[in-house]
Amino acid sequence: MSMRGALGGPRVLLRRLREVMAEPVSAQERLDKIVVLIAANMVAEVCSVYILRVDGTLELYATEGLNREAVHQTVIGPNEGLVGLVAREANPISLSDAQSHPAFSYRPETGEEIYHSFLGVPILRAGNTLGVLVVQNRARRTYSEEEIEALQTTAMVLAEMVASGELSSLARPGQEPAVRRRLQLSGVALAEGIALGHVVLHEPRVVITNFIADDVQKELKRLEDAVSSLQSDLDTMLTRGDMADGGEHREVLEAFRMFAYDRGWLHKMREAIMTGLTAEAAVERVESDTRARMMRQTDPYMRERLHDLDDLANRLLRQLTGQSQASTRDRLPENAIVVARNMGPAALLDYDRSRLRGLVLEEGGPTSHVSIVARALGIAAVGQVANATGLVDPGDPIIVDGLSGEVHVRPAPDIENAYVEKVRFRARRQAQYRQLRDRPCITRDGQEITLMLNAGLLVDLPHIAETGAAGIGLFRTELQFMVAATFPRTSEQFKLYDAVLNAAGERPVTFRTLDVGGDKVLPYMRMVEEENPALGWRAIRLGLDRPGLLRSQIRALLRAAAGRKLRMMFPMVSTIDEYDRARALVEHELTHLRRHGHTLPEQIEIGAMLEVPALLYQLDELLERVDFLSVGSNDLVQFMFAADRGNSWVADRFDPISVPVLRALRHVVERGKAHGKPVALCGELASKPIGALALVALGYRVLSLSPSAVGPIKSMLLALDTRRATELVHELLDRPAPRVSIRDRLAAFAATEGLQF
Ligand code: PEP
Ligand code: MG
Repeated sequence: MSMRGALGGPRVLLRRLREVMAEPVSAQERLDKIVVLIAANMVAEVCSVYILRVDGTLELYATEGLNREAVHQTVIGPNEGLVGLVAREANPISLSDAQSHPAFSYRPETGEEIYHSFLGVPILRAGNTLGVLVVQNRARRTYSEEEIEALQTTAMVLAEMVASGELSSLARPGQEPAVRRRLQLSGVALAEGIALGHVVLHEPRVVITNFIADDVQKELKRLEDAVSSLQSDLDTMLTRGDMADGGEHREVLEAFRMFAYDRGWLHKMREAIMTGLTAEAAVERVESDTRARMMRQTDPYMRERLHDLDDLANRLLRQLTGQSQASTRDRLPENAIVVARNMGPAALLDYDRSRLRGLVLEEGGPTSHVSIVARALGIAAVGQVANATGLVDPGDPIIVDGLSGEVHVRPAPDIENAYVEKVRFRARRQAQYRQLRDRPCITRDGQEITLMLNAGLLVDLPHIAETGAAGIGLFRTELQFMVAATFPRTSEQFKLYDAVLNAAGERPVTFRTLDVGGDKVLPYMRMVEEENPALGWRAIRLGLDRPGLLRSQIRALLRAAAGRKLRMMFPMVSTIDEYDRARALVEHELTHLRRHGHTLPEQIEIGAMLEVPALLYQLDELLERVDFLSVGSNDLVQFMFAADRGNSWVADRFDPISVPVLRALRHVVERGKAHGKPVALCGELASKPIGALALVALGYRVLSLSPSAVGPIKSMLLALDTRRATELVHELLDRPAPRVSIRDRLAAFAATEGLQF
């Protein structure tokens, strides 16, 4: 039986559905009319709508053909029957003999035993299953591709009805449709803190208002036009070779272009239009399918490709609807929680800090730079939350728990109250920490530990006074470059450094020279194409190759510190020669300033960051030359384990609280002592109580922390007996260690010692 032979085919059905959607009838009447229409149009004896409920079950909401008494009575478990299978797999199932399928389950109240053929399609929106639409026939028949397609299109129209919330009036309390259900999502904590607020999508979804086509030919033409303009945009971007444009990288563009010319993808969208959808609705349907597949995909490569397809569909949607990617940044609500697939640190800094409370990412690792910026801004952040952008709608109430890594969407009142209480409790804790502010950080056995701050923005400066930190142990100068629209002039750099030194007063500040490259991109700077940017042309390598940039920065630093003390260090040093050359640039600038009669800093200390494992084996040579060393454990650990800190597939795979890392760190601090040169550590490792415990046990006496970590770390250190901790750590490092992580051993030690974590 062909669809065309049926009563008018899919397009007529869609037009009739549009009329029913507009009728002023109750939700139940509307659903009842819809199932009658679909059954008639598809020449099926049965058409039923099952809606996914908040409790995860599927409830029969309307039927033509099955017993009417079963409506709102028949409830199917998530692992039950063919309907459950369609919902779980988010894929159509078409069978000519349903009863012989192993998943078939028989419900006597429905009277469905006489129907042999079964076609079920998921009711999908943004890749999420909202329900299942089923047609059944008494005769054994095979549903055609065209019919499956048509039913999916119809399901899309139903999805909009479900999403509108209209069906909630038909539900008993606690059994509402799942579309707006409360969700508890779990991910990885990226930045400590708890935030209650409302969802802002970093990339706003395109809103489609017109689903049903009046003129199919016209819609095909619209799609054709949109696709070719997308294709030519991508071609131009690639031939122009201007990769800075929009921040895209060449390989992403290449992948995009491949899909933009992909016949399968285009064909699917054309087919969807043929069933009666507008061009934009067709794109959305295909995108929703892609997202559904993405969620079930565990192969990272395939996931990436599906992401690319999803991005491409979004571009097409914007073309078709004329909705620009106008960011929500300008219309940010109070207590905004930004939800994004991923973003770079500069994009986060673009948001109005006074309204931004939290961040939820589908990707992102704890030491990625966006996480560091989130911590600098003091906002709660959680990463690796699967499909976060597909599960929320703009304006949804949301809670981000940057301690446990949990995210609550549309939370129940009791959850919300519990969090309000948690926030109060944290505020009380913070007040206690503030009381410790002026107390020197001396351990129980009399060891003095210097706690410094990591900073990089003007907003960080009040933290010095608030935390009582001893100074700034790492000032990330690149953040100013990342938020700017063009290269900051020497005078602008000077202004910032001067403000930082003024805010710090007598307390020391260690400026790190520009550390760009890797994931720290400057949108206005042309970068070379790199296979592995983290291992590439970045930090001091770039600074030495483009000495103009580094010299201008050094000049700004020397002038800002006129008459004061200046400490600066170079990032990502790999060889002694690099350090010598960078230091020579400082000498050169000093001579220049002296010659022009400028006041010079009263004292200058120059150091290096230890982030590249090769330096571990050049420590004696290096320590002879530097005034101090600062270990950048974020990079050092990623290089030691060869695990990209920003890649969520590997970022958490290896524990930094482990024998190899701690052995390396012990070696560094011991060589520092032997040479009488101070060694500090400024990676995120020091900002975690267990990390700080390990470091102090190894002999580190200067730690540079995220502002929010100063209170908790100080409170832990005041209670610490370093001798016992040192004994334990050495014992663990000195014996054969087939198990790499020693986190549990340190946690057990902390528990018996009564240390607060
Ligand atoms: C580090 O690598 O540990 C570090 C402090 O530098 P950044 O995180 O800015 O790369
Ligand atoms: Mg680093």
